[in-house]
Amino acid sequence: MAAQPSSTTPQTALPVDSPTGRLVVITGPSGVGKGTLVRSLRQRHPELHLSVSVTTRAPRADEVEGQDYYFVDHPRFQQMVENGELLEWAEFAGNCYGTPWRPVQQRVEAGESVLLEIELAGARQVQQLFPQAQRVFIHPPSMAELERRLRERGQDSEAAISRRLQRAQDEIAAASEFDFEVTNDNLDAALAALENVLFLQA
Ligand code: ADP
Ligand code: 5GP
Repeated sequence: MAAQPSSTTPQTALPVDSPTGRLVVITGPSGVGKGTLVRSLRQRHPELHLSVSVTTRAPRADEVEGQDYYFVDHPRFQQMVENGELLEWAEFAGNCYGTPWRPVQQRVEAGESVLLEIELAGARQVQQLFPQAQRVFIHPPSMAELERRLRERGQDSEAAISRRLQRAQDEIAAASEFDFEVTNDNLDAALAALENVLFLQA
């Protein structure tokens, strides 16, 4: 896709001077366990909404349209970018991913909290548009463990795994940009650390 993510300009902004819900951005290398952590968080706290992204990636075997992602082709994705329908978007390991703006806006304006599980370039765009967002970076215990988790998940080709590991180095190098950093070594401990960020540091 020729256009750069910076061309994403939603047509409206979240109000900063009225009571709103929280926007929480969760970022970290692919395979670190973001999806696992967010699933557990939402089981414990059903009031947290997860934004469902749009992607040009093909669905994995167990993924459900509208639940894991909205799966679209490149022309449709491009159209959404041009129409300002995305809060942010980025290319990641050969595919495009973006956050539909309207559902996030509606939830936050209604005073609800919304989680965005997105990669680094998207997190940076959200920071520009919505500096009040809480941004959390999830670290793997080690690169070896990250690789092991990507393989264990068994959903990506060897080429996709190696693109994801390469990208992981850049993402980890940017972790200090985030408001909070959590290491997902023991899952329960990481979950407790995330809950601390979400409910005690607000
Ligand atoms: P992401 O959403 O960040 O790409 P996933 O949630 O899909 O990552 O997790 C990748 C793999 O790692 C999955 O097989 C998951 O079960 C496993 N995993 C997640 N957290 C942990 C953990 N704390 N310890 C061991 N394995 C984990
Ligand atoms: P996956 O293909 O493993 O589902 O996701 C690859 C990467 O894209 C992950 O780091 C995930 O957090 C990120 N991602 C998912 N949805 C979005 C989105 O809407 N915007 C951005 N910028 N990244 C996303």
